[in-house]
Amino acid sequence: MKVFINASLIDGNGGPVINDAAVLIDGERIVSAGPRAAATWPEGTEVVDVTGLTIMPGLIDCHDHLASKNYDMASRWGLTEPTSLGYLRTAKVLEETLLAGYTCVRDAGGLDIGFKEAIEEGLIPGPRLVLTVGILSPTGGLADRPSPSGHHNPFHVDARIPVGVADGPDGVRAKVREMARVGADQIKFATTGGASSRPGHGTMDIEFGKDEVKALIEESTALGRTTMCHAVGGPGLRMAIEAGAGSIEHGCYLADDPDLLKMMADQGTFFVPTFEVYEFHSTVSAPHMIARAQALMDVHQESLHKAAEAGVRIIAGTDAGGFVHGDNAKEVEILVNRGMTPMQAIQAATGLAAQCAGLQKDIGTLEPGKFADLLILDGDPSKDITILRNRDKIKMVMKGGEAFVNTVPVATGSPQPVS
Ligand SMILES: [Zn+2]
Repeated sequence: MKVFINASLIDGNGGPVINDAAVLIDGERIVSAGPRAAATWPEGTEVVDVTGLTIMPGLIDCHDHLASKNYDMASRWGLTEPTSLGYLRTAKVLEETLLAGYTCVRDAGGLDIGFKEAIEEGLIPGPRLVLTVGILSPTGGLADRPSPSGHHNPFHVDARIPVGVADGPDGVRAKVREMARVGADQIKFATTGGASSRPGHGTMDIEFGKDEVKALIEESTALGRTTMCHAVGGPGLRMAIEAGAGSIEHGCYLADDPDLLKMMADQGTFFVPTFEVYEFHSTVSAPHMIARAQALMDVHQESLHKAAEAGVRIIAGTDAGGFVHGDNAKEVEILVNRGMTPMQAIQAATGLAAQCAGLQKDIGTLEPGKFADLLILDGDPSKDITILRNRDKIKMVMKGGEAFVNTVPVATGSPQPVS
């Protein structure tokens, strides 16, 4: 066993920092986490004195695209480099994301199950993965990406990532089954266009009909999958919430319809605002994307505030992939800059995020029986949220009891309470 003592503890439940804490780990699981005075451990336990450091749960990003490199059409189609090179780049992204403190990621599309299997086998380092594999939309929607000439991707780069286009309730049901077959843990779908959609298909434009969304959620539920829905604004946003989508991704225009926020709070619908991607789109994307992103930043912040007031669970998600990898904690910082308290933002990326990922029994908070997925930080992120983005301040990244970053000064010799 191993015990960290003299730590400041953030347990991921949103309560105040516990000073003089002890976290006891046995193998891959936590035995206890709380005030040191209440902790005991057996003889032979490795005692690590982390005086002055803070222990918190590993971070969770609930909206990432780990296999995406940029928004370029040729890149999306896998035409710009050998497939093997692309996969190796993705493996590097997985490692970098873990080393940045992210011990779990819900991938929102584009990552096939081979990467998850490789991480679970110990072949490559990476976060725990919750997969959606592909994105469902109707013809002309988010998953339907023809070239400007009207051509479609001439071949499937990866047979384990089905094209997500489906029409009609029967077609949608079949596509949900196909996604589940290739390893989707959750079913991702879109009911509106997005900031990176093709020109002429915007964020307020609806995708799917009510009958299709009803069939999609029914089939997902029958297969034991929750759903995550890309919905930015307009009638498609309302349709997704009314139909009972598990989480709303982006949701920029929620402030326009306060009754939707009440419905989300009542139903327990998660809200994943993904500010980081809009900050990117509002500066350096294609002209039609810059215009869209800038127009929605203000209302997006208002939606965040109103969602918090309404009691909606807000979750950190970056929508990384097209613009950057490994700076996922920027989203947590933005949530604070846009009005959340640091502890609320930390919860959005730990305890609440684990609920959104469907892994709350195993991760998200530091409690007995959960996996030892934790960070040890030089400083207190509840006072200075920027610490989470500073690699020099991240002294340990531990996943399942195994340290992937470890620059904690070794100091032992403190008295060892024996049980
Ligand atoms: Zn996305």
